[in-house]
Amino acid sequence: MRLKFLIAFMATLLLAIVVPEEPASRFTQDQRIAAIVFSDACKISNYVCDSLTPPMVRRSASLGDGRARGAYWNGSTVIWLDEPVRGTQVWLTLFHETVHYIQYYNTVSTDGHDLLLRCIKEREAWTLTEQYIDVLHAPQTYRRSLEEWRRLYGCHDRRAPADKRLMHDANRRSK
Ligand SMILES: [Zn+2]
Repeated sequence: MRLKFLIAFMATLLLAIVVPEEPASRFTQDQRIAAIVFSDACKISNYVCDSLTPPMVRRSASLGDGRARGAYWNGSTVIWLDEPVRGTQVWLTLFHETVHYIQYYNTVSTDGHDLLLRCIKEREAWTLTEQYIDVLHAPQTYRRSLEEWRRLYGCHDRRAPADKRLMHDANRRSK
């Protein structure tokens, strides 16, 4: 009896050593991160997520061509990630797109043509992602300044003094 137990024990031990845990595939890893990011985004944004499930993540090599790291289409439950995105950038990109996913299901959505609404939506995603950088204790290098953000999304502050706007436009042209 005792010997049987010992053999069973040794067999279990051997099996644990010989069969290493299969490393998680990129796909599985992405879904795991997406689930954590989704729960964090709901908490930080204060949006209602009761009827939502974590979005699914798909990788695409075409996103980089459009100079985007991530994408979310209104009404979808899928977030697209650019193929080469790794590490902290996965977390931050998924967070940004997850904010859009949650916005949509809280009826904050645009068809992409209304500049004002798009700027509201993107500004919120930017603000919350900046907060998430602190939550993750991610390096400050991941921050995007408001000016960078304005350039990227074409959301200019029309209340800014005219000379500042001119300077901004000159900067744009020189690039
Ligand atoms: Zn966005």
